[in-house]
Amino acid sequence: MIQISEKSCTGCGFCMRDCPVAAVTIHRKKAQIDTETCVSCGVCSRVCPEGAVSVDANRPADTVECEACPIKCQVPQGAVGACRRYLNENGHLLRTTAQLAYAAVKDEIGPLPAREIQTPVITAIGAGTSYPCCKPAPGIVTENRDGVDVVTVVTEVPLSYSSILLKIDTDIFIGKEGAEVMVGKRVVGMVETEQYGSKMLHIGGVNRLTGPNGFLVARTITDIANRKPVKLKISGGSRLTVQVGNPPEIDGKPVQKMRVGCGSATLGIFAPLLKDAADEVIVLDSHITGQLSQHVAGTYVGVNPTGVSLIFRKSTPGRYFGDHGSGWGGTSIIDPVTIISAIDMNVARPGMTILVTETTGEKGAMFRVDNTGAPVPVSMTDKGKKALAAISDACEPSLVSAMYTAGSGGSARAGVTRYPIKLTRAVHASKAALTVGGAPGFVMPGGGISFMVDVGKIRKGAFYWTPTPATICPLEYTMTVDDYREMGGHVEAMKPFDAADPEDDG
Ligand code: SF4
Ligand code: SF4
Repeated sequence: MIQISEKSCTGCGFCMRDCPVAAVTIHRKKAQIDTETCVSCGVCSRVCPEGAVSVDANRPADTVECEACPIKCQVPQGAVGACRRYLNENGHLLRTTAQLAYAAVKDEIGPLPAREIQTPVITAIGAGTSYPCCKPAPGIVTENRDGVDVVTVVTEVPLSYSSILLKIDTDIFIGKEGAEVMVGKRVVGMVETEQYGSKMLHIGGVNRLTGPNGFLVARTITDIANRKPVKLKISGGSRLTVQVGNPPEIDGKPVQKMRVGCGSATLGIFAPLLKDAADEVIVLDSHITGQLSQHVAGTYVGVNPTGVSLIFRKSTPGRYFGDHGSGWGGTSIIDPVTIISAIDMNVARPGMTILVTETTGEKGAMFRVDNTGAPVPVSMTDKGKKALAAISDACEPSLVSAMYTAGSGGSARAGVTRYPIKLTRAVHASKAALTVGGAPGFVMPGGGISFMVDVGKIRKGAFYWTPTPATICPLEYTMTVDDYREMGGHVEAMKPFDAADPEDDG
């Protein structure tokens, strides 16, 4: 149940602004909650700067508690939950959107490239470049596939709109989002928003390629794409050695494991094992730190309240927003006991055990609560070791991977066809398949031909750079000969596959 203290409320409207179901209005500079709409999600209490909103455990009458996520909305009759997915209809929670079959959505998704054109006849690796671009591309090669005449047009294309999105599987803090990434003392990129279990860097891009460090930027993109080791330094952060397909080295230490999930997910996966390991378990994580006794997974497996409070800010029961640092789980916690802010001896009992670990299970510490309510370090128990080993064994090895991203929407299309707009349209309509060194490219929506490709699938050494400066990428377009003719392709330059005779090393 949500209550607003009229005395404390200043009418700032933060609760009204952020309430996901528009249940708050402001009257005479005081917030009022519509009880027929409010789902007790607690958002208003989290954003109120005056602490004017209180949440108690009483369930409002005629509501149904949703158990589909940790928010546990109490949904009134006729209202929807905070995510707007569940409706309380006469005491039953119903999904507000019907589940859809693939057939219902496939027109919006559009066609996939036909099987005959999914792979190129030849790759562009070693093809060379025709200059100026309006000359036919250096390789235009045909083949008959299951009765369909197919053509692949290949060029090693210089692309100044090009960059590398580097994925580094680690929960170790390497630098702030937006921080500059350097080779030596020169900037080549920036830290991007992180992904699940991975830090992301963006290296290059047209503005850095045309800037004062352009040659170094071009060389760095090319070295990463060719899977060579590259040394990077993040401003205000770590020194890294990255090589696609290998574990990252951070501040001189190789990283072995990526986390199994956030602290909450770790509890969700291993709750039965963790319940056996200790009375209370805390999984430190920079995103969400988990506390077993408060978490829905702990309740589910029968863990009792422990009276342990944590220093981090609470998100939902048993889930706390972490922070960033060089400590356990990528947080600032260097000494694991410091995550505990208090132990309420009205709830806790002397002798109770607390296991603190992180999402890779690599570090673990066991504490026993003494008569005064202090957590005293003790040796790791066998059950504790078993739980840590289970977490650690479930982690994937930490790797560096990279997507080469570039735009080939300009004059690079002229070597393919006299009407470049027709090539762009064919690529977006899946009538022409784009591959890079034979690996499938993902074409971004919208205008132009901007694509991404996993460099781990492309032959080492296939990328080059030129001091224009630009990176040089082996690019192939494959389509039916009929479609190629229709788009104004350089059909006079077509050769059958045998005559092209490219190297085939099996
Ligand atoms: S508890 Fe949630 S639904 Fe209710 S008023 Fe606050 S923000 Fe809105
Ligand atoms: S799934 Fe939606 S309705 Fe259910 S508790 Fe979570 S936010 Fe509320």
